[in-house]
Formats: sequence, structure tokens, C-alpha cells
Amino acid sequence: MNEELAELLFPHIKTSVEEIEAKYPKRDLKEGAMVTRFGPSPTGFIHVGNLYGAFISSQLAHQSGGIFYLRIEDTDSKREVEGAKEAILKALANYGIEYDEGYQKGGQYGPYVQSERVEIYQTYVKDLVRKGLAYPCFMSEEEINEIREGQELRKEKIGIYGHYAVDRDLSLEEVKKHLENNDPYVIRLKSQGDPHKEIILHDLIKGDINLPENDIDFPLLKKDGIPTYHLAHVIDDHLMHTTHVIRGDEWISTFPYHLELNKALGFKPCKYAHIAPLTKKEDGKIRKLSKRKDKEFAVSYYEEAGIPKEGVRLYLATLANSNFEEWYMQNKDKTINDFTFSFKKMATGGTLFDMEKLMNICRTYFSRISAIDLYQEALPFYQKFDNDFYQLMVKEKDKLIAFLNIEREGKRPRKDIATYQDIKLESSYLFDDLFYQDKEKTYQEVKDMVIDEETLKQYFKVYDANDDQDTWYQKIKLLAEENGYAPTTKMYKEDPNAYKGHIGDICEMIRHILTGRNKTPNLYDLLKILGIEELEKRFHWYNEK
Ligand code: GLU
Repeated sequence: MNEELAELLFPHIKTSVEEIEAKYPKRDLKEGAMVTRFGPSPTGFIHVGNLYGAFISSQLAHQSGGIFYLRIEDTDSKREVEGAKEAILKALANYGIEYDEGYQKGGQYGPYVQSERVEIYQTYVKDLVRKGLAYPCFMSEEEINEIREGQELRKEKIGIYGHYAVDRDLSLEEVKKHLENNDPYVIRLKSQGDPHKEIILHDLIKGDINLPENDIDFPLLKKDGIPTYHLAHVIDDHLMHTTHVIRGDEWISTFPYHLELNKALGFKPCKYAHIAPLTKKEDGKIRKLSKRKDKEFAVSYYEEAGIPKEGVRLYLATLANSNFEEWYMQNKDKTINDFTFSFKKMATGGTLFDMEKLMNICRTYFSRISAIDLYQEALPFYQKFDNDFYQLMVKEKDKLIAFLNIEREGKRPRKDIATYQDIKLESSYLFDDLFYQDKEKTYQEVKDMVIDEETLKQYFKVYDANDDQDTWYQKIKLLAEENGYAPTTKMYKEDPNAYKGHIGDICEMIRHILTGRNKTPNLYDLLKILGIEELEKRFHWYNEK
């Protein structure tokens, strides 16, 4: 009877499971090599959670000499959004997550788009029907809703199982009658499970998790013959020889489905690793990052905010393994790919996604690259988002690079740049176009700032662009002494009443007139870049009423 039922339901399926299996031979990889995948659904929005999973999967596969592939899981056509597949490719490319085979790239284990694999899934389902492990279910939406409402009221497990699975044992005649009537149907698993028994998920991140054995006859094929996620991913991961399924922990509750499916299909299950969700602290409470509330959840946000690709990658690495950050701090000349990631160092509970932390990581990253690299990296950002500054960058290349190069060497390099946007913010006083705008805005209010015109005027005369830093400083010291300032802060502190101020006040005054700010990189270097004439010019502008 099962044989006949299988033919009745799938007359168009002529291939056998064996024929399909033969097309997906075992991969020729060394012992221990991991095969992982990224299986996004093209539903329109790539978020950092997706990127995080893809990042972890690719690092683990590649460090083991394995394969990381991209599979588009588009079995839910109702939710599909135009352009979503392109957004997925763009996000992976933008963040340097390279895949070895998959969508748009090909490979021997394709097709890598689930909607192109429908016959494959149906072949396996036909086989399950033949073995008495799947059946057509003609229940209507209304009937199913009614059952659910009753189950909710009685606080029972939701789903079609046990006595609720009324079509489980339909006779061939009854099925035929339904088909003659063109009644719509789904194909359900005929579960063999016993909910009183437990199964164990040996999760590679969270450890062993006990779950009840599945007894739900969940759908394998929907009314249109398209598979559900449960069926499609189990078959694909088997055929594509995935060794490790790394996915969000929202899938843990349906793991019993997947285990039973593997058993019914005669597959050896993959190893599973469920990643804890990214969370955020808000008003003292921790919650999951949300698509609706958090702009930083969308991957597109990072590009627009000028956050560097490598900064995002470093942060994903920091989130992925608790020992990464320390390693990165200690290994200045190494890159992410030199680090060995492990499941053991992954968080079992929610992982706090903290923008401030990300900014700090970006600062460290920018402090480690050369001024020229920083300049080059920032160019495309400005070309795309701020063409005026882009033009300025091109015109004033040497000046900007000289500025970015200040305090870059040495033990404690400067860390004022976290995003590409900061380059403009931090350097704007270098450029006349940006500096001479609105005096009120240019000259930030600095508490207790006294402009000592006499001393400044003398300084214009003694300054020499050829002085080395030490001579430069000695000259200011001398100037301080001659004008009633303490040549050191120590001397000033010992007897404040004896002086107008100290050498630091003179430096701050010069800095303020030159840049409008009280915090900048090394003043000696800035004066060299801008020149004493510019300091004079700015002093006059400052003095104009
Ligand atoms: N398509 C699933 C999702 O987008 C993938 C889950 C998995 O990696 O197995 O959530």
C-alpha cells in the first residue's frame, strides 16, 4: 500500500534516493576538516546576528582546512524580498567573509538555492512515504487552528500528534478520494517518537541538553510541494556533507524534529552548535538585539556609520571567543586568521553587543595601521557619503596624511579615530574651508582660557619651523620665563601666586588659537603642518570682533 501511495503522490519523481546520493560523493578532506555553511533566508534584512554566525562558521571551517559554503534557504517564498540575495552577498563581501562554494559561485554539491532543489526533497519524501514514515494530511487550516486553540486552553503541547493526527492512518481509498476532489494537503512525518523518552543534544557550545523525544507529525512538504526548513536543511546538510551546523539557539526547541528526521532518512546527523543571541543593555535590562528597535542590528548601518570592516570583524572575533581580545592585544602584528577559534570559548548565554566596545576596538585597529593605509581606507567612504570632503582629501592628501601620522609610532599610539567619520571631525581645522566658518563654532569654549596677546606675538617671532621638538619646547620655556610664567608645572604648583600661569598655559593658548580646540594630537607637529603664518592669521581672525 505504501508503495502505491508513494506513486500516487509523486508520479513525477522518477529518480531514486540512491541516484541522488551518488551525485554527492564524500568530500576529499583531511581528517578533522570542518564543513560549515551559512544558510540565510532572503527575507530582506541581514543583521549582525547573521554575520556573526557566518563569521564563526567560516573561521572554524578555514582554520581546519575545510569548506565553508553559502546556501540560500528560500523555501518561504511568501517572505522573500527582492534584492535580499544581493544584500547577503554584499554583506559577506563587505566584511571579508569568503565562502568556497555556493550561491553565485557554484561547486560540486549544488544547486545551492533550496528552491532549485525541490525534486531532490520530494525524492526523499517519496521514499519516506514508501517506508510508511510520511503521509499526506488533508486537514484544513480551520481544523488545525481549532486543535491549537483547544491545546492552548488545556495547556497541552501544540501540534499535530497522537490522536490529533487524524490523517495518519487514512486508507489508500480515502486518500484517493481526497485527491480526486483536489483537496489540498501537506506531507507530514509519521513520527515514531515517544515523548516520555528523552534525547540528548550534545551541543558543542552549550553542552548536553536534554529534550523530549519528538512525537509531532510536523510537515515536511507544504501544500505547494515546497519543503519546510526542517526537511530541507537536514537533506542539504547530509548531501553537502556538512560536518557542523552552527546556527542560532532559537532552533534548539526543534532539534528533536531534526534528530528524528535524520533517523527516518537514515542519515548520520551533523554535529550541532547553537549560538547564543546578541543582546543589548538598556535601562539596566538585558534584551535581545531587535530588528525594530536597534539600528546597529542591520549590517548596512556599519558602512554608513563609517565603521571599518576590520573593526567589525575584530569585534565579531571578540564576541565569538572570550580569549580573543587578550590575544589580539598581545599580538600586535597578527591578524584574525592567526587565531584559533574554538567552541569551548563561546558564550553559552546571551552575548552583550556593546557599541562602545566596538568603538574601542576600532580605535585600536586604526592605531595599528599606517597613516597612508588609514587614508586609503577612508577614501571610498567619503567618496560615497561626503563628496566635498572626499575632494578635499584628494587635494590635500599630503597634509592629511601628515596629520594622521602624528603620534602613530611609539608605545602608546594615538587613539582618536574610531570611524572614518572621525577623520573629518578630528582633522577639520587643517583645512581653511572647514576652519573659517562660524567663529563661535570653530572656537570651542575652553574654561579658564586666557589669550595673552603679548606673549603670542613674541612667539610668532621666535618660532622656527626647522627647530627639532626639544629646541621648540625650550623656546616656549624661555618665553614663559620672560613673560612671568612658570617654566614647569611643578614650579607653578609650588608657588602659584608667583606666576601668571605655567608653560602649559602657553601651549594651550597656541593650540586653541591654531585649532579652536583644547585636545589635539602633538602641537609641535601641528604647527609644522599648518605653519606659523597660519597661526598668526588665525590669531587675527580670532581677534576680529
Ligand atoms: N534559514 C535559516 C535562518 O535563516 C538558517 C538556519 C540554519 O542555519 O540552519 O534562520
